[in-house]
Amino acid sequence: MAALVLDGKEFSRISENIIKEKVEELSKKNITPSLATILVGNDPASETYVKMKRNTCARVGMKSIAVELSENTTTEELLSTIKSLNNDQNVHGILLQHPVPSQIDERLCFNAIDIKKDVDGVTCLGFGNMSMGIDAYGSCTPAGIIRLIKHYKLDVQGLNAVVVGRSPILGKPMAMMLLNMNATVTICHSRSRNIDTIIKNADLVVGAVGIPKFIKSEWIKKGAIVIDAGYHPEKCGDIDLDNIENIASAYTPVPGGVGPMTINTLILQTLQSAENTA
Ligand code: NAP
Repeated sequence: MAALVLDGKEFSRISENIIKEKVEELSKKNITPSLATILVGNDPASETYVKMKRNTCARVGMKSIAVELSENTTTEELLSTIKSLNNDQNVHGILLQHPVPSQIDERLCFNAIDIKKDVDGVTCLGFGNMSMGIDAYGSCTPAGIIRLIKHYKLDVQGLNAVVVGRSPILGKPMAMMLLNMNATVTICHSRSRNIDTIIKNADLVVGAVGIPKFIKSEWIKKGAIVIDAGYHPEKCGDIDLDNIENIASAYTPVPGGVGPMTINTLILQTLQSAENTA
């Protein structure tokens, strides 16, 4: 039987329509969900990502406040910007676009975001709460993956899940989210040995490595669930998806799988933050 395609593009389209309706409902209470995006410097990829997030806000009727700071911004200046957004009652979510220029202490700045406005799930407190199973906004890419898994009613309980990558925004929170869903989780990273053997035993694989087609299709166990978080200019992900429809039981395509879920989760969490103030 051909594998189930976990269609993030379609699910995010459906979700966007629901979010739009909820934004309209909130407007009756004179609340417009509002996301502040902070872009520091002129990194072209970051500019594109922020633009995509702002465009999505506009599509669903949310307000986005663009804060653009120069390449020479100091940690203190960025902290001061975050503090004023924390104190602004009309701002429901704060997104600090990663990466920031190297002179800035990015972790300190992430952690300065008010937990109630941490809709991108980047604070240590938010990560800790999420890991402990306490209500918190999850980091958007892994949280989007979990939403996709739930949408397709895949049961991960007891599965051998292997997450390849351990970044603070993706691999680590992904592993904790799968653990909280009772999967048995292994995390691989650049110092891991025999990754191919580990993956061959996996019932669920998440590719979050940042290397095109790093995970080979012949490593994937027959019937495994395959989640590819990577996206590269050559329009492939971190997993070699050639012939995957005949190997996996379910998989995320690239593009159109994980990618659309990230921004959708950001606006969903911004909506939830605004609803919490109603
Ligand atoms: P990252 O911060 O560069 O982290 C990459 C991780 O992969 C690190 O933990 C690293 O291990 C590990 N790694 C690197 N080389 C490895 C190797 N040879 N063997 C095993 N592990 C290795 O990347 P990221 O931000 O998590 O992103 C990962 C991927 O997801 C990228 O393809 C990125 O484009 C994609 N992504 C997509 C979205 C989306 O919206 N769809 C969002 C974010 C990221 P160490 O910790 O040991 O260095």
